[in-house]
Amino acid sequence: MLGVALGEEYQLTADPAEAECIVVNTCGFIGPAKEESIDTILAMGRMKEEGRCEKLVVAGCLSQRYPDDLAKEMPEVDHFLGSSDMLRLGEVLAGGAERMLVGNPANYTLRATDPRVLSQGQHSAYLKIAEGCNRTCSFCAIPAIRGKQRSRGVDDIVAEAERLVAGGTLELNVISQDTIAFGRDLDGRPDLATLVRRLGDIAGLRWLRLHYLYPETLTDELVELIAQHPKVVRYVDMPLQHASDAMLKRMKRGHGGTRLRRVVETVRNRIPGVVFRTAFIVGHPGETDEDFKELCEFVKWAEFDRVGVFRYSDEEDTGSFTQTAKVTKKDSAARHRKLMALQRPISRKRNRALVGRRVEVLVDGASDQHEYVLQGRHAGQAPDIDGVVYLSGAEVRPGEMVTAEITQSADYDLVGEVLLDDGDVPAAPPPKPRRRVSLRVTA
Ligand code: SF4
Repeated sequence: MLGVALGEEYQLTADPAEAECIVVNTCGFIGPAKEESIDTILAMGRMKEEGRCEKLVVAGCLSQRYPDDLAKEMPEVDHFLGSSDMLRLGEVLAGGAERMLVGNPANYTLRATDPRVLSQGQHSAYLKIAEGCNRTCSFCAIPAIRGKQRSRGVDDIVAEAERLVAGGTLELNVISQDTIAFGRDLDGRPDLATLVRRLGDIAGLRWLRLHYLYPETLTDELVELIAQHPKVVRYVDMPLQHASDAMLKRMKRGHGGTRLRRVVETVRNRIPGVVFRTAFIVGHPGETDEDFKELCEFVKWAEFDRVGVFRYSDEEDTGSFTQTAKVTKKDSAARHRKLMALQRPISRKRNRALVGRRVEVLVDGASDQHEYVLQGRHAGQAPDIDGVVYLSGAEVRPGEMVTAEITQSADYDLVGEVLLDDGDVPAAPPPKPRRRVSLRVTA
């Protein structure tokens, strides 16, 4: 959408008060995300009354999921775009577009030729390799919102990646809903390992990171690539959701806890120094104290580097919604607190093991602590979701890859002293066009 707006000769601004057009890109798959999206839309609606805004646009999964309800309840919104209709922002900006631009079913798949602007600097980019999901996890509304899996062609993905790297991107973060299933819907069934190898051949790329690997049997080839390929970071992001057989069955994950233990062992034994990130849902219908205890034992045993814990959200168009034995909010909140508290010392211990080590750090920019302190990430820290390395000791610039010695650690973040400066400054931003559009992202 930022690319579309620039193409229409709009200027981008992060300040909605100075925008003629405000776009709220929403998330709508669980309760807290929906609440945050709605709060943001309401706040931007007030901005429209007070500021320069002429058009308020709501895009993304919330408008895909609840188009009619939103249209009725929110007269202040001028246009709704579904999760497959981002490119139609051009029609909105040009004027005269209909209010409802929500295609059903959602069927958009990104193409290398689509306009794109990186909102967080050129040095790190997400690379979307597929849309939609063919699995049927019972708690998940995403397949209903995003549709069946649609993988992009390998050549198209590589073309986009090459262009990003030529523009200064050093780190590519591969994403989709079910990354390990990439290519199964394409002629010739190219697999993830084939794609990774092609991306790894791009000269100038430094880090390639794979997100959202479903915990089915990892192929030897993929494990080998993560373990050995110089550009594929030793980082496994694999949401496991639970560990007890009964819960995995209720969640319709297609495997039991024994399989998960085997997958964890494979990752740990065959990928030296791997950083393992996972996520769990607590409070799913039917989760007993025994199930939760089993999950806690599993987390203690596996010693993951990072764990995200989510409280179950009862979503009306999912299989879990109709399941009995709902867990109370109070119990769900208590389990959330307990699992987070259990993981914290494990994360702290794993971070502490890095003190004294030299690591490559990609400098992201000014830190969230102080404008004069820069922050970056080592290969085991993904953007947006993991901790950071606060940098001291030498002048570095955003977008550089530097070597730092880790001097301090906390539960999630690290402090490092810069030892070397061997990177380039990213390319200057394009010249400013005429009008302004603001994009608020909610999640
Ligand atoms: S694999 Fe992920 S996106 Fe697909 S249904 Fe399961 S939880 Fe949802």
